[in-house]
Amino acid sequence: MWIKEYIDKRAYNLQRYKAGKPIEEIKREIFGDKDVKILKLASNENLAGVNRKILKKLKKDLENVHYYPDDSMYYLIDSLSKFYGIDSQHISVGNGAVELIRYIYQVLIKEGDVIFTPHPTFAIYYIDSNLFGAKHLTYDLSSPNYDIKASDMIEKIELLHQKGIKVKLAVICSPNNPTGSIITNSDLLEFLDYTLKNRIVVILDEAYFEFVDHYDYHDGVKLVKEYENLIVLRTFSKVFSLAGLRIGVAFSNPYIIKAINNVRLPFNVNYLAQRAVIYSLQNYKSLLKSIKRVVKEKYYIYQRLNEMGIEFIPTFANFIAIKVEDHIKVYNDLLLKGIIVRPASDMNMGSYIRVTISPYRDDNNLFLDALKEVMCARSSSG
Ligand code: PMP
Repeated sequence: MWIKEYIDKRAYNLQRYKAGKPIEEIKREIFGDKDVKILKLASNENLAGVNRKILKKLKKDLENVHYYPDDSMYYLIDSLSKFYGIDSQHISVGNGAVELIRYIYQVLIKEGDVIFTPHPTFAIYYIDSNLFGAKHLTYDLSSPNYDIKASDMIEKIELLHQKGIKVKLAVICSPNNPTGSIITNSDLLEFLDYTLKNRIVVILDEAYFEFVDHYDYHDGVKLVKEYENLIVLRTFSKVFSLAGLRIGVAFSNPYIIKAINNVRLPFNVNYLAQRAVIYSLQNYKSLLKSIKRVVKEKYYIYQRLNEMGIEFIPTFANFIAIKVEDHIKVYNDLLLKGIIVRPASDMNMGSYIRVTISPYRDDNNLFLDALKEVMCARSSSG
């Protein structure tokens, strides 16, 4: 077919991002559309959901959806600027953080450029490296805690530089997906000093920022003015419970932000999403309860997994990577019980399932009890 010749090979061969299974799909394919309760613990949303007062305001806003949204996002960026204490010239907003990652690559990465990340990490970074023809080089995070260390990264980058391979962009997700591990603030500062000196751009992806309970965690937004090489990403998909509306935010120096805004699709952040962020920031205090609950539930899950003798990676996010040998089978067995988790092989890590931590004890018990049954059935049949 001649049309094949016209299509970009990298686009054609690109492996698409594997998303967590939607509830409707499991209902349809496993339960024949019966009205059963499906528990989705696959994509790290905040199961507390959106505050009722905000929902009421959004319903009213539906009356305006025949207009295009404000492409400059004036009120949205103004409220982000006030909330995060940083001028609006340092802010760009995307249709989810994933859109901003694509834009950052678009304005920064040329074919053959070298991108460096810990491994495993969030799949989009590998996918976009492939799309833009970059060389994606990694170093392996290792057990027991999969911590991200400045000294490890600097050592690996120095080795590359000695071989004449110059790193252009380094990406750190902290907490990292799917491990839940972080880089400490002191290590981050050491890495930023090194990369600034060596002219390496750093994306610091803080998608799970609000869930971290560590005394030496970072606040990337506060570092943006000091490090011109730093791009910080946040999202409204996790703690803010707005995954379905798609909003991500990038904070960086005004040069990078201007380039991102130039390539940003017109009206990329829809009207309801813009309104929802403004309301959510005004109501931030109401989220604190669900953050506390998730952290409390994390320790409860640790305790139950320890009792069951099941290994896991200690986490600072609202998800946990749990070690199970035949992880695809465990994933499928849990689906049959109406519980959707993620096989971590979707995220380049075998032998683990990744499970969202719900703020509700009942949800977590449902999962833990099902896991126990699945594991018992496996050990008695094997
Ligand atoms: N960064 C990380 C580390 C993530 O885990 C995710 C979501 N899975 C994202 C970014 C993307 O977030 P968004 O929904 O805003 O695109």
